[in-house]
Order: sequence, then C-alpha cells, then structure tokens
Amino acid sequence: MHHIDNPYAPIEEIHQPQFQQKKVKLFLKREDLSHPYISGNKWRKLKYHLLAAKAQNKEILVTFGGAYSNHLLATAAAGAKYGFKTHGFVRGHEVSNPVLHLCKLFGMQLQFVSRENYRQKESLFSNYFGLNQSAVNIPEGGAGPLGEQGVAEIFEEKQMKENFEHIFCSVGTGGTLRGLIKGLHANHIEAHLHGVVVLKGAEEMDQEFLDLSSNNYTLHHRFHVGGYAKTNEVLLAYIQNFASTTGVLLDQVYEGKMMLGIQTLVAENYFKPGSKILALHNGGLVGLLGMIR
Ligand SMILES: *Cc1c(COP(=O)(O)O)cnc(C)c1O
Repeated sequence: MHHIDNPYAPIEEIHQPQFQQKKVKLFLKREDLSHPYISGNKWRKLKYHLLAAKAQNKEILVTFGGAYSNHLLATAAAGAKYGFKTHGFVRGHEVSNPVLHLCKLFGMQLQFVSRENYRQKESLFSNYFGLNQSAVNIPEGGAGPLGEQGVAEIFEEKQMKENFEHIFCSVGTGGTLRGLIKGLHANHIEAHLHGVVVLKGAEEMDQEFLDLSSNNYTLHHRFHVGGYAKTNEVLLAYIQNFASTTGVLLDQVYEGKMMLGIQTLVAENYFKPGSKILALHNGGLVGLLGMIR
C-alpha cells in the first residue's frame, strides 16, 4: 500500500420546503457514503497516518477512543483493510455495544482503561508498546497535521469548486474544521466555513484556530442541545423527519445537530436569498444503532 484511493462522496441537493421558501439551496457532501465503517472525516483523517505508518514499516496501529468512538471503529476497519493489526484503548469500564462489537469483528484488540489512565495517553502507549518497534501511536480522532492534510484534500475535488457561499461541518475536536480552513486557502476557494460545535461551553475553542490566521470561518455554539452526545425531543424529531423526507440518516451526536443548526439559521434569514450552502455529512451512523432499544 503506497496509495489510498479517493473516497466516493458525491454532492447531492436536499429538497425541503423550508429551503425553497427562503430561496436557498442546500447540498450534502455524502462523506458518509465513503465506507460503511470508516466513515467520512475519520477516513480522511486516517489516510496520511496510515501512509506514514506503512512507510515506517509499522504493523500495529495503537489508538484511543470512548466506547462509542467513530474513530476506533474507523481505525479497526481501515487497519483490517490495509493490512495492520489494531489495538484500541477504550475509556472507562468494560461495556459492549454495536461500535465495539464491530471493532472486534475487524480484529481490534480492545483494552478498557480507567478515565484517569485514559488521560495519560503517552504513558499508556509507552507502558504497553514502548519497546515494540512495530507499533505506532495514532492520536485520538486522527488529530494533528497528518489528519488535517487528509481533510484539506477535499477541496482538490472538482465538485467542491462549484461556488458554494457557505460550507458547514460539525465540530468535536475541531480537527476537521482546521483541515477545511487549510484546504480552502490552499485551493483559493472563496467560501465561508461554519463549524457547528457539538460540545457545551466550548467557546474558548475559538482560540484554537487563531494560528491559521483566517477570518473566513464562524463557530456556532448554539446547537449543542445540552452537550456532547446529549439529545432532546426536538433533535430526535428532526432526525426522524429528515430521514423520512430525504432518505438520509443523520447521527444524533454530530450531523443531526449540524443540520438542525443550519435549518434554524435558514429560518432566521441568516443566509441571503440565492445562497448555496454545502454541508459535510461525515457519517457516524453506527452510533445511532446504540440508541435503538
Ligand atoms: C468525529 C466526527 C466529527 C467531528 O470531527 P472533529 O474533527 O473531531 O471535529 C463529526 N462528525 C462525525 C460523524 C464524526 O465521526
């Protein structure tokens, strides 16, 4: 493996009466279709980590995540696909759920660690893999410059040069938005980026983008619905309605909140009539299965 193909992630228009009324057009970039389990931004963020690991002859990908981590699952599936063993440190006591079950099917060795130990990721790696030359530490969420490089490449796609005035993504760690800011600049694309933050009280996060010296992005802090992975009736009803009227499933942790945010902004006349809005759908749909009981 010296090369990883670009993912299949077409852009589709979403037709909803609310958008038509306000004379805006909404498009979804279906990054969720790139792979059923290495979905969306996790695929993009892993790409250069995997190529670097191969170039250094590493054999074991070691990484970290919570019990519902899309990144753990992506690493497990990508590791299996590209010929690596995988080891996942999972935050908290041992549990079972669809995400972890799939990780195990893809051959990932799971190791549950206390919340205190989980915070010391470097120590966990060096205690268990420090002497193992074939192991590589992949940062949680595929973060860092390599992860951002993979995300930035989205703007090299021809379909991204279609003059969208506004481009949205949801924001957890912010790595995806950082990559998008970099890619926008590198490709001289004139669009305004928007990050819908899914964590509560994360306003200080705005500082984390200052080093990119860009002013064409906005972080929205009003749509977290109570905090990370929290939901409410409005969000769940929105997801239900969206799925049944468009055929597109949205997860409740990230993309449901992003779309509810966009819908709210449309209703508030935030966008000029005639605007073309693009939202990245980064998948995360296995997490939805954990909710079904
Ligand atoms: C991880 C994830 C995000 C958040 O990406 P960050 O780079 O951490 O901000 C958004 N959507 C989905 C579906 C994800 O899995």
